[in-house]
Amino acid sequence: MNAEYEYLFKLLTRLKLVMIKEKLDFLLEEASKKDMNLREALTFFCEQEVQNKDHKRIQMGINLAKFPFSRTLDQFDFSAQPSIDNGQIRELSTCRWIGNGDALLLLGPPGVGKTHLAISLGREAIRQGYSVLFIQAAALLTQLAKAHLDGNLEDKINQFSKAKLLIIDELGYLPFDPKAAHLFFQLVSKRYEKGSTLITSNRSVSEWGEVFGDSVVAAAILDRLLHHSHVVIIRGESYRLKEKRKSGLINDQKLKDIK
Ligand code: ADP
Ligand code: MG
Repeated sequence: MNAEYEYLFKLLTRLKLVMIKEKLDFLLEEASKKDMNLREALTFFCEQEVQNKDHKRIQMGINLAKFPFSRTLDQFDFSAQPSIDNGQIRELSTCRWIGNGDALLLLGPPGVGKTHLAISLGREAIRQGYSVLFIQAAALLTQLAKAHLDGNLEDKINQFSKAKLLIIDELGYLPFDPKAAHLFFQLVSKRYEKGSTLITSNRSVSEWGEVFGDSVVAAAILDRLLHHSHVVIIRGESYRLKEKRKSGLINDQKLKDIK
């Protein structure tokens, strides 16, 4: 390596332009092959660096979010779920609601794509620079209850209040202990108007009193959540069952038996 090259490498290292440094020969060749002028070449080099940094940032955000599996909006078949307004989901994918600190409720029976949409919107939020944390409601409650017992509830609530978007999945599958409902209320209050909360639930809002085992606490939680909120109600049958039926794996009689 000649001295000039070495000097350029040092500068790139100092500026942390890792991608340009790594692909320098290739980039210089491309720039010359495509007859780029200096401005075009500089733009091309910077683009490569920015793409690489974005990719790394997104990967790190996805790791920190702890999604249970990977899903994207592109993988969502809107034609299979006519009760969902494609336009509303596209609007939500702009993440303006997160910028405003609004809440989002995705409600509907099991298997209709609530978790799929929640993860997809979470990934979109990360792409746009927001921090995201995904947790199942039951796990969240267990952690809050344990922290309460151990005397460090405040730390735990602060921990769950850090992410700009907190996704709480499957609220309502298990009924809450009324004490737990109060802990949940404290978390919702702390996050209120600071960050956004996305909740998926198989129970309608009118059933939340039952879910929380305390209608007063449920009303207080809903008051905070619904103040600035968006609600997507999904109707219809489970996507998996529908797919199985399409492929002939189950017939309508068996489906009725399952139900
Ligand atoms: P829910 O959270 O409402 O119970 P999920 O989001 O877990 O449902 O969906 C169940 C499975 O079906 C997942 O693998 C999901 O990716 C898939 N799925 C559901 N709805 C759709 C859809 N409209 N298009 C593509 N895949 C879907
Ligand atoms: Mg789900």
